[in-house]
Amino acid sequence: MIVVEDVHFRYDEADDTPFALQGISLTIPDGQFLAIIGPNGSGKSTLGHCLNGLLQPSDGRIAVDGLDTHDSELTWEIHQRVGMIFQNPDNQLVSTTVERELAFGLENLGMPSVEIQDRVDQALERFQLGDYRTHAPHRLSGGQKQRLAIAAVVSMQPRYLICDEPTALLDPQGRTDTLSLLVELQRNHSIAIIYITQFPEEVLDADRVIIMHRGKIAEEAPPEALISDIDILQKYDLDIPPTVR
Ligand code: ADP
Ligand code: MG
Repeated sequence: MIVVEDVHFRYDEADDTPFALQGISLTIPDGQFLAIIGPNGSGKSTLGHCLNGLLQPSDGRIAVDGLDTHDSELTWEIHQRVGMIFQNPDNQLVSTTVERELAFGLENLGMPSVEIQDRVDQALERFQLGDYRTHAPHRLSGGQKQRLAIAAVVSMQPRYLICDEPTALLDPQGRTDTLSLLVELQRNHSIAIIYITQFPEEVLDADRVIIMHRGKIAEEAPPEALISDIDILQKYDLDIPPTVR
């Protein structure tokens, strides 16, 4: 469980820059698919970075399975529990082959090489990357790159996966594939998914949706209600899906 208590955050403590997060409170139970939707600049990425301890709240508290993100001695353990996937997979892929990419994070964890090889083989099969084992990551399609980035993070067996607009740069097929992969990880592998998006049509598979607006949780709505409610979508500067329009 991740517990967020009255979190405020600003990037520059020194001056009077506005708070990017202004009093966020939220509980994310194990295994939940939580969608966070909001327009550009509403604080979604900042919240995502706070959830895995990349940023510390200026005020308030976040506990990941009881581990306080303010405690620098716990940073490593929190990073292991809370994986992150970003918009641009190119920024996450650092290795020369698919296989080495999958091993990279595990090597950083200091895992014995026999176990690394096991996990890499499992990941190649489970994420249907076996045919690309020796390919260079940058030669894969956008959707395949995102699949590889997800596979590399999931190999480290996180309990939570924060996905920050992971489909924004993908073609329609890549978007569908990525989203269904994440749904599968939640349903069959009990990984909690925190899915950040600007697309209302992507929240339908979520257990729960929160709308962020100007650094606050403006609204919480069931997915079906949200995407068909033009008033709410317009109020928070969200796109109206073509099917609704
Ligand atoms: P979103 O992900 O919803 O687009 P962000 O969390 O990126 O929103 O941004 C929230 C606010 O914080 C915005 O006003 C943005 O300009 C500001 N911000 C984001 N990143 C930084 C940064 N590295 N330094 C200063 N301000 C930032
Ligand atoms: Mg963002």
